[in-house]
Amino acid sequence: MFSLSGIGVSPGVVSGRAVILIQRAQVLRYRIAPERLDHEIARLDRSRERTREQLTDIRARVARRRGKDLASLFDAQLLMLDDPMIVPRAAEIMRSQRVNPEWAVQQVFNELSAVFDEVADAYLQERKGDVSDLVGRLKMNLRQGVSTPRDLLRELDESSVIIADELTPSLAAQVDWTRVRGFATDAGSRTYHTAILARSLEVPAVVGLHNASERIQPGQLVVIDGSASEVIVDPDPETIARAAHHADDRRPAGAIDAAHRQPAMTADGVRIKLDANIEFPSDLAAARYAGAEGIGLYRSEFLLSRGIGPADSASEERQYEIYRDMLEGMAPGLVTVRTFDVDEDQLALRSADQPLGGGWIADEERASRQGLRGVRLTLTRPELFQTQLRALLRAARHGQLRILFPFVSGVEQVREARRMVAAAAADLARRGEEAPRVAIGVMIEIPAAAYTADLLAKEVDFFTIGTNDLIQYCLAVDRADERVSRLYEPLHPAILRMILMVRRAAARQRIPVSLCGEMASDPALLTLLVGLGLREFSMTPGAIGVARQVLADLRADDLKALAGRLLRLPTVEDIERELHAALGRFSLTRE
Ligand code: PEP
Ligand code: MG
Repeated sequence: MFSLSGIGVSPGVVSGRAVILIQRAQVLRYRIAPERLDHEIARLDRSRERTREQLTDIRARVARRRGKDLASLFDAQLLMLDDPMIVPRAAEIMRSQRVNPEWAVQQVFNELSAVFDEVADAYLQERKGDVSDLVGRLKMNLRQGVSTPRDLLRELDESSVIIADELTPSLAAQVDWTRVRGFATDAGSRTYHTAILARSLEVPAVVGLHNASERIQPGQLVVIDGSASEVIVDPDPETIARAAHHADDRRPAGAIDAAHRQPAMTADGVRIKLDANIEFPSDLAAARYAGAEGIGLYRSEFLLSRGIGPADSASEERQYEIYRDMLEGMAPGLVTVRTFDVDEDQLALRSADQPLGGGWIADEERASRQGLRGVRLTLTRPELFQTQLRALLRAARHGQLRILFPFVSGVEQVREARRMVAAAAADLARRGEEAPRVAIGVMIEIPAAAYTADLLAKEVDFFTIGTNDLIQYCLAVDRADERVSRLYEPLHPAILRMILMVRRAAARQRIPVSLCGEMASDPALLTLLVGLGLREFSMTPGAIGVARQVLADLRADDLKALAGRLLRLPTVEDIERELHAALGRFSLTRE
């Protein structure tokens, strides 16, 4: 038994098995059961083979276009792929420490970098770049079709505690806090974010532990005592009993009080609408529980993985029932259903009833798709599109529905999609069913749509800004590619300007605009978005409680002034520093 002391930011005592989350390296370190070891090692081997195929392919392409000499640069990486110091070493780490392959590969990189750093040889320094590139590719390929840290966090065992280097609110929002009992972080002081987050989640938390994520092993039993600002590792029976005693007193995680039901408001009385993003009809309960006013984004494409394919003759009826139940369940709140946002591959796989990744599209996978996707695809599949539209129009009688078209890049697509809606309504009229008028909106998630927001605003009833795609297309960063993903930056001046431009275009045309990307789940970014004049957000249900609390403490006029200052800053770093400094000042005046 040993204990680490930090800063308690949320009271209470809990015990649980440690899950280590290293957010900086984007790696989750967790213990694998002995019976899963072979399976996980096979995953590492598959990643190696995929990496080999990609590198061989790149080498051949480079050789064709640029000649053999340049192509030979990739030989080094291909050779390393068979070096015992890399993949076999990772497998050895997995066996000896019983850890997951992502973590083992990261460890291999750390070991090799330490060796390279000791020798001041230019040739070897260059090899370090190769190792880094190769490890990045192995990690990227490990993620293909399997769990991302975020997916894993959804599936944690009951009775876990998270030990992290840091825990950002947007990641915390993805955790199922009914399973995770508490958290502890290495990172700093009683920061604004973490403190609010922990209190709002009502889970015990200790921060500022410096090196807990290194000292605690995955799977170790840990007690987090937020009241005594302490983390006890391998506790004695007495300490465990104390934690168990406290756990009985604790309200269930995320228990709501009446305040959660009130609409969100800033300290100076500006109303902010907080809706939920959902993927499955069953998420509706979580949205209501979190106090969402409505559903700002229902990603209807997830229906396709549940066997509702275009060939399914019952699909209109089945979809109608699902949409109807959702509208009734959320009444009197608005429900915004986004029409299928899939590409051809996803559609083919789903129609063949082979759900991708067990019925779940990994965020990375969804995020990197471009081309014939979203409304561009559904416009080429009138049968699929019309079926969905008829089901939606029929369901509209049961509540407040809005239809949202994804991946729009120009006015033509909106007009064509509207004609599809009219055709679906005409079909229903022929059947003797009257379709009510439904608000039609577009996702603003392609830079072209943002730049033509003034033109689009004249064609639709509302906008929903999708920053997940907007950021990656605006900054030309594929988030699935770890080697550039750090350039994926919501605080880039281009992103802030684009959001402001869209907000203004909507205001000029007097149409509502909301923002539904992940950005809204991060309280610091949310405050900036309020400063940019946005008043409606849709986010993962787990983020709503924190958002409500953060907003209640801040004045919209302060945030407007802050956003004005930030818009003049030239770099992400400047913007981030100024934003956090300002929020720190606001929080000091609050506490
Ligand atoms: C977005 O692009 O911001 C968005 C919300 O859509 P998705 O994440 O489903 O692509
Ligand atoms: Mg999108």
